[in-house]
Amino acid sequence: MRKVAIYGKGGIGKSTTTQNTVAGLVELGRQVMVVGCDPKADSTRLLLGGLAQKSEPETLREEGEDVELEDIRKKGYGGTWCVESGGPEPGVGCAGRGIITSINMLESLGAYEESEGLDYAFYDVLGDVVCGGFAMPIRDGKAEEIYIVCSGEMMAMYAANNISKGITKFAQSGNVRLGGLICNSRKVDNEKEMIEKFAAKLGTQMIYFVPRDNDVQRAEINRQTVIEWKPDAKQADEYRGLAKAIDENDMFVVPKPMEIEELENLLMDFGLMN
Ligand code: ADP
Ligand code: MG
Repeated sequence: MRKVAIYGKGGIGKSTTTQNTVAGLVELGRQVMVVGCDPKADSTRLLLGGLAQKSEPETLREEGEDVELEDIRKKGYGGTWCVESGGPEPGVGCAGRGIITSINMLESLGAYEESEGLDYAFYDVLGDVVCGGFAMPIRDGKAEEIYIVCSGEMMAMYAANNISKGITKFAQSGNVRLGGLICNSRKVDNEKEMIEKFAAKLGTQMIYFVPRDNDVQRAEINRQTVIEWKPDAKQADEYRGLAKAIDENDMFVVPKPMEIEELENLLMDFGLMN
């Protein structure tokens, strides 16, 4: 089973990209579980068709100790398993604890057992902030394969570089590796070339370039992935392409983060090309 975590700046498209890609993996016949970690509990919304999903802490409060697997995971699109771990309360907790508690609980209840037939677990991790919580899933070896969602916007690249630093740090003591950058386009000038170059500098690859497309919003309004909402849309094929690229990926590296100055130069070089 592959344990994949998706990181990236807030609002960059982690939850959207994860769910749309998971729909693509479903078409490839993969059995997938998605574990979300966000107080908005929107990591599985498109897979569940917007069915209100109780977050796990809520379930625990109501059920006490007597929790069963089916209390915390719901079946979504194409047989995917969906879990919302809730995430931090504003001003209180930290992003990583909730997800670790959830993963531990899922483990002890047997969700990762061979008999469950999982091919993938995806962790949609909140936040780009380098705090202890952010790093928990990679520090504890719960996630082994990381993809960073980014765009050609400076702050997204800055966050991606910081996340790479975190991966590098924890890769020394564990087996976490970077599988690539997913460019979720913001239509920045020379974006594809710039992210390809950025990825090369980090020692990784741009595993896929996802175009910006309003069909993503149209599907979202219907609480569906693009693949479910409009299977023949061009954007549906893009997510199929990303799913295939991840499924076939064999490039897993310990990244080499860039110095800030070097990163700024890269941004300038590509920004000035027009
Ligand atoms: P995150 O989980 O990183 O905070 P979201 O997945 O919630 O970000 O995405 C933020 C918004 O961006 C969503 O409303 C989504 O519809 C939009 N979005 C993400 N990717 C695309 C895309 N490729 N094209 C158009 N809109 C997108
Ligand atoms: Mg999200």
